[in-house]
Amino acid sequence: AIAAAATLALSGCSTRTGTSTSTEAGFATDATIGVALPSKTSENFVLAGGLFTDGLKKAGFTGDVQYAGGTSLVADQQSQIQSMITKGAKVIIIGSVDGGQLTAQTKAAHDAGAVVIAYDRLIINSKYVDYYVAYDNEKVGELQGQSLLDGLAKRFPGVKPWNIELFSGSPDDANSKVFWRGAMKILQPKIDDGTVRVVSGQTDIKATATQGWSGQNAQNRMDTLLAANYSSTELHGVLSPNDTLARGIITSVRSTGKPIPVVTGQDSEAQSVKSIMAGEQFSTINKDTRKLVDQAIAMVKDLQQGKKPEINDDTSYDNGARIVPAYLLTPLIVTRENAAEAYANDPLLAPLTR
Ligand code: BGC
Repeated sequence: AIAAAATLALSGCSTRTGTSTSTEAGFATDATIGVALPSKTSENFVLAGGLFTDGLKKAGFTGDVQYAGGTSLVADQQSQIQSMITKGAKVIIIGSVDGGQLTAQTKAAHDAGAVVIAYDRLIINSKYVDYYVAYDNEKVGELQGQSLLDGLAKRFPGVKPWNIELFSGSPDDANSKVFWRGAMKILQPKIDDGTVRVVSGQTDIKATATQGWSGQNAQNRMDTLLAANYSSTELHGVLSPNDTLARGIITSVRSTGKPIPVVTGQDSEAQSVKSIMAGEQFSTINKDTRKLVDQAIAMVKDLQQGKKPEINDDTSYDNGARIVPAYLLTPLIVTRENAAEAYANDPLLAPLTR
């Protein structure tokens, strides 16, 4: 902790809560703000694009919102960031495709005087990530692990062991490791004491990874797991790190005609909320994108005025080059029981719970 504090003191970051020292120069109220988002494979990122465009405009800024596309998402995002720097963006908000492949771009941004904010996904191995704004990823994992156990207890009382399988996210996304760490904090003791059994024996993050967060890849892996391990064994539950994967997993199980197990998720995607209400997918996580985008824009407004943005965590996100000062929001677990309440203020999801 002392070393961490020293690192932060050296890098000039504020400690905890919103100090507002005017150490940064500020910039014009109509400055260009770049927003580089990954591809549109998850609904949260689709929503974020529109919210950033509208929110930055409303705040008076010139927003430049781009999604990575084409055959190489990484290369496309790298060149989008480079062109934001060239256009003189004062802040560049990045939801990375691959958090480990932006070392040169974040340095170029820094050299040009632009502030870099990592959005939702941490950018690793770069000193030039000024801030991080995200939902508490480790907490997301913990909620998923706990929800899997809760669902198993509810649906299969008295069964021991519960047969489960584990899925993790895309290896190029720094969040995948953190979701996994949170979930395994809850599940590992239950594997160790025999409460749950991972029938395939695939219990490490590599074996369970889902390249590109692709639902199809999750479906394919589930097909293989079912064929190899579950011809005469019942599958009770699956840890899925997000909704896209959860739906791939459910599709796979359904195609075998077996009962749908307890499956977790994340993101509150409309299709998964419908599935939860229909009693298929067991749970998801609500990470309201509107709040996350608002928080990122609040950081931009502070920077514009020459203030240090408010942070609430300066210890958790060591990106390999520095501890990145972060503002973390609190994720919420959602099942059929609390869905109506959880989405009451969400115009897209509330109608699905009625
Ligand atoms: C986000 C998740 C999302 C996943 C796939 C992660 O970085 O935090 O919300 O499900 O990427 O897009």
